[in-house]
Amino acid sequence: ERAPIVTIDGPSGAGKGTISQLLAQRLGWKLLDSGAIYRVLALAAIHHNVELDNEESLTLLAAHLDVQFITGSETQGIKVVLEGEDVSTDIRSQECSNAASKVAAFPRVREALLRRQRAFNGAPGLIADGRDMGTVVFPGTPAKIYLTASAEERAQRRYNQLRDNGFDVNIDRLLSEIKERDDRDMNRSVAPLVPADDALVIDTSGIGIEEVLNIALRHIESKL
Ligand code: C5P
Repeated sequence: ERAPIVTIDGPSGAGKGTISQLLAQRLGWKLLDSGAIYRVLALAAIHHNVELDNEESLTLLAAHLDVQFITGSETQGIKVVLEGEDVSTDIRSQECSNAASKVAAFPRVREALLRRQRAFNGAPGLIADGRDMGTVVFPGTPAKIYLTASAEERAQRRYNQLRDNGFDVNIDRLLSEIKERDDRDMNRSVAPLVPADDALVIDTSGIGIEEVLNIALRHIESKL
């Protein structure tokens, strides 16, 4: 495949989801929300009573995960279907966020999900949103972006997002969970959250979506 790939990595709440969706729309490209894959695996584990610290069983579950990602033009984002059931909203819960970062820490689980992620690559192009898109999954692409923002700002954004989705959340708890999740994502042994050497790092604290989008588009144009 020679189709272009843009990787968008960074911690939770840095604006990756929003920017990735807008870029995919703007360019008419496909979108890989890799976090949704870890979230849906976590949900499947919960459904099937698989312990979140059992790497063996989680790896098996990951290899056989029956999940579909459906991109609708009118729905924002992606519809996620697990074993025939629409779990698009369920996977956004705090429970799933925390469980996802636990299952994502296992090397063999990540390995088992690698091919599934790479299969998203294809014409006319792909926006890949995650933590290790530029470092592990698509290291060969020249167009890499790393979005970040202060933990406080990210907690505030997550708070607004969850509240808008009807979840009842506490901002202080959210902030401590974000810090805990960052810590787990940044310090794990495989594919830790870190900008690729050749990524453009954008700190989105205090800048608007339009501006981030423009910086990203300029970078993509210069690289592809
Ligand atoms: O991006 P999102 O918050 O949906 O990701 C949920 C969790 O999945 C993250 O906290 C992280 O632990 C894990 N993840 C990952 N690698 C990715 C995407 C997500 O480890 N590429």
